[in-house]
Amino acid sequence: MSKVFAINAGSSSLKFSIYEVPSEEAISSGIIERIGLKDSIVSVKFQGEKHEETLDIEDHEVAINHLLKKLEELKVIESFDEIAGSGHRIVAGGEHFKDSALLDEEDIQKVEELADFAPLHNPAEAKVIRAFQKVLPGKPTVGVFDTSFHTTMPEKAYLYSVPFEYYEKHQARRYGAHGTSHKYVAERAAELEGKDIKDLKIITCHIGNGGSITAVDGGKSVDTSMGFTPLAGITMGTRSGDVDPSLLQYIMEKEGLSMDEMITILNKKSGLLGISGVSSDMRDVEAAAAEGNERAQVALDIYYDRVRKYVGSYLTVLGGADVIVFTAGVGENSASFREEICKDMEWAGIKLDSERNDTRDEAKISADDSKVAIWTIPTDEELMIVRDTVRLGNI
Ligand code: ADP
Repeated sequence: MSKVFAINAGSSSLKFSIYEVPSEEAISSGIIERIGLKDSIVSVKFQGEKHEETLDIEDHEVAINHLLKKLEELKVIESFDEIAGSGHRIVAGGEHFKDSALLDEEDIQKVEELADFAPLHNPAEAKVIRAFQKVLPGKPTVGVFDTSFHTTMPEKAYLYSVPFEYYEKHQARRYGAHGTSHKYVAERAAELEGKDIKDLKIITCHIGNGGSITAVDGGKSVDTSMGFTPLAGITMGTRSGDVDPSLLQYIMEKEGLSMDEMITILNKKSGLLGISGVSSDMRDVEAAAAEGNERAQVALDIYYDRVRKYVGSYLTVLGGADVIVFTAGVGENSASFREEICKDMEWAGIKLDSERNDTRDEAKISADDSKVAIWTIPTDEELMIVRDTVRLGNI
């Protein structure tokens, strides 16, 4: 049986999952943290046990070499020969990567060139891909881009109403994100409904710490709430979502902030955290609101409101919907969040069944007389990465 890695790397961390193929069974996962710093932590989950170790790991190549040895030691893999390839999540694929791709040196350079669109992620991911190619020569490395699914958006959805030359000169446009997740849950919803995705209009709500909503028509993304970067769209754990840019100039002047500082505040100190002053974690904010914390309640009200507005706008974009899907941390786990989003939407054919909604599993949660099927579907980005690696790596 062959084994395939799904890799999600950042500048100092590397998350991995290992799948057996063709059975698609997830056999192990883990994370290496603090790469390039002192006291790096290697953590491997296998057969219900967590193995953790602290040591100094100077770079990603050392990290991967160490990880492979560790996996052999723990008998997750018998030998390197078993590893059939690796799939890598890449944040920015720009307009170039319209699908996942088997990566050669030219592609990796392209990933690096797209660093303008994801300065913290793309260079680190390119480094990790090179390291895998060096440590496991001859094994296919496949890039799976957060943006690819959204490259089907029409011009009217991806262009901003700013001078056209900025798009022509600098590719300034909406790219979206979470594409792998939106694609997975849309396809899964069609499968569960027993229908051809080509015949369905689906609104996918990926609501985690980051969150985005996508209008999927016939299996293709036609609009999505994240923009040039993941900062746009709905309220998130720490991100503001959409704001009037003039507000930023006003706040910057009043508070004496630089543009960089303002953008950091919008990314890291806004959203649920910024409004509630309690936490970016939905569980904490829900608990605080339940105890009577008014700002926590306002934060929730704003959160629901922004998500509902996007769902409403995508009903218009699609001309109605056949399916709405909730996924990711909040979407999968918070029944009250789903209840609030679907509240008073019967006019649009959306009616939740409260009892069915009391679940964290893959489930249809709409009432029998709801025109729109409502699903909660746990997302599985790793599985999508593995499937694309098998497909493009000829495994
Ligand atoms: P990320 O965007 O970092 O991948 P996740 O998809 O893991 O995030 O989602 C994290 C969010 O999910 C957090 O806000 C967390 O509070 C929320 N969450 C997880 N479990 C629950 C729960 N039982 N009820 C409400 N929210 C939850």
